Amino acid sequence: MDTVKGFVNDTFKDQEPWKIVTITTGSVLSAVWLWNFLHQDESLVERGKKKIFRLVRCLPSVREKIQNELDTLNCTFERESLERVKDVDFVTKLPLNGLAHEQVLGEVRKYIELGEFDWQNGKVSGAVYRYDEKLIKLLSEVYGIASYTNPLHPDIFPGVCKMEAEVVRISCKLFHGDEASCGTMTTGGTESILLACKAYRDYAKDVKGIKNPEMVVPSTVHSAFDKAAQYLNIRVRTVPMNPNSCTVKINDMERAINKNTIMLVGSTPNFPYGTFDNIEAISELGVKYNVPVHVDACLGGFLLCFMPDAGFSVPMFDFKLPGVTSISADTHKYGYAPKGSSVILYRDKKYRHYQFTITTDWPGGIYGSPTVNGSRTGGIIAACWASLMHFGYSGYLESTKKIIETTRYIETELRKMDGIFIFGTPATSVIALGSHQFHIYRLSEGLNTRGWNLNVLQFPSAIHICVTHVHTQAGIADEFLHDVRNILVEIKKHPEEPVEGMFAMYGMSQTIADRTVVEDLTRSFIDSMYFTPSEEIEEEMN
Ligand SMILES: *Cc1c(COP(=O)(O)O)cnc(C)c1O
Repeated sequence: MDTVKGFVNDTFKDQEPWKIVTITTGSVLSAVWLWNFLHQDESLVERGKKKIFRLVRCLPSVREKIQNELDTLNCTFERESLERVKDVDFVTKLPLNGLAHEQVLGEVRKYIELGEFDWQNGKVSGAVYRYDEKLIKLLSEVYGIASYTNPLHPDIFPGVCKMEAEVVRISCKLFHGDEASCGTMTTGGTESILLACKAYRDYAKDVKGIKNPEMVVPSTVHSAFDKAAQYLNIRVRTVPMNPNSCTVKINDMERAINKNTIMLVGSTPNFPYGTFDNIEAISELGVKYNVPVHVDACLGGFLLCFMPDAGFSVPMFDFKLPGVTSISADTHKYGYAPKGSSVILYRDKKYRHYQFTITTDWPGGIYGSPTVNGSRTGGIIAACWASLMHFGYSGYLESTKKIIETTRYIETELRKMDGIFIFGTPATSVIALGSHQFHIYRLSEGLNTRGWNLNVLQFPSAIHICVTHVHTQAGIADEFLHDVRNILVEIKKHPEEPVEGMFAMYGMSQTIADRTVVEDLTRSFIDSMYFTPSEEIEEEMN
C-alpha cells in the first residue's frame, strides 16, 4: 500500500492539482466511453457497415433513387392489395342504419370467401391446422355462450377462470410438469414467448442483479424472440446452426453464455426447417451455468406429447429434463382451438411471479394482471377448453398419428426425387426443401400456379411445407407429390432460368446489403394491408 502511495505521490509531485483532476476525470470518462463503444449489441464491423449505409442514404442522388423505388413498390403493394379484394366493395364509413342479421352474415361470408387459395382443403402450408364444419359449429356456440365474459373479474366470472386453470393444468401434465409446475393462457405463441422473456428478465434483475440482460438463441429461433428483445430491451446473442442437421451448435451456445445471460432457448421444432434442437444438451448447460431454459414448442408441442403413444420416437424435451424451466405451446395450432390461444408453462411459480404486472397505487385500485392484456376474452378460453374436451386424449392421438404419417410419407417420396434436397431431419410436421441445381423459388412458383401456397425461407433460399390435419384428407399428399414431380420435369428443361414475379422480389431482397432498405420495404408492405382507397379511386373502380 505504502509503495503504491509513494509511487503515485512521486509521479505527480510536480503537477498542479487542476491538471491531476482534469487528467483523472478525462481518462475515466474516456475509458467508460470506449467500453460502451466496444460493448454494444452489434460488432464494430456491423456498426461500421450501418454507418456507411446511413451516410450513403443521405446522399441526395441515392436518397432520391431509393425513395422512387420505394414509392413504386408502395403503389405495387397497394394495387395488389386492392386486387385481392376487388370482388367486394369497400366500406369506409358507418352505415347510416344498422344492417339486418341475415345481411351481416351474408356480407361476412363474402369477405371470408375472398382470396384464391383453397385453404379449407389442404392447399396451404401451416396456417389452417384443422377445418371441420362440425367442430366450428361446436366452438362457435361455446364462444357465443362465453363471449362477454372476462377473467379480469374472477368474482363475476369464476367459471371462465376455472377453465383457464384447467387448460394450464392439463398442458402441464402433458409436458410432464409436477405439482409445482404452472402457467397461464395467452393470446398466441408470440405472447407466450414475450412473457417468458419478461419473466426471465425481471427474475435475473431481482435475483442476480443483471442490468444488461442477454438471451442466447439459435439462429433458427422464431422471430417472436426478436420482437420480445425489441420490446423488453434485451440483447440477443444468436448461435449458428449446424448446416447438416439444421440444429443449434451446442459448443457455440456454451461460448455465448456470460454473466448477463438471462435465458437459453431451444425449439422443438423450429419454424424454418422443422428440426429439433438438442434440448437435453441445452438443459445441461442451463443446469451447469444456473440459467433458465425456455423450450419453444409453440409449433410442435401438441403433436410431441402424443407422438410416443402414436408410435413415433421423440427426444427428451420437456419438464422431464431438469434444466427446462419453461415451455410455450400453441393450442391454436395442433390443439385445433380457434386462433387466439396458447399456453406458457413454467417449472415453478417463482418464474411465473415475474411474468405478472402489479401496480399497487393506482386510483383505479390495486391492479394485478397475469399477461399482456387487461381485459381478456373469456370466449377464446372457453373455446380452447372445449377443443381439449372435444378431442380428448384419443382424438389428439389419432390426429397426431395421421399428421406424422402423412409428413413421413411426403418426406420419403420427396427424398426419391432428383434435383431437390431436404434440410436436416424433419422432427414433426415441417419439411424444408432446397436445390443445388435450380432456384428453389421456381418450385414454389410452379406450385403457386397449381393452387398451392408454401412458405418461403431465406439465407439460404428454401421453401417449406407445414403439414396439418387438412393435408391428411384422402388424396391431398399424392396430389402435392404429383404436382411437385411434374414441376420438376418442367424446371429441369431449363434449370438456369430466373425466378419471376413476387418470388423474384423475395430472392432479390436477400441480396440487398443495406437491410434498412428491406425494413422500409416491409413497412410499406404492412401499410398496404391497411390500405383503403380514397373516394375518387372508389368511384373510378365503380
Ligand atoms: C407459430 C410459432 C410461434 C408463435 O407464433 P404465433 O403466430 O404468435 O402463435 C413461435 N414459435 C414457433 C416455432 C412457431 O411455429
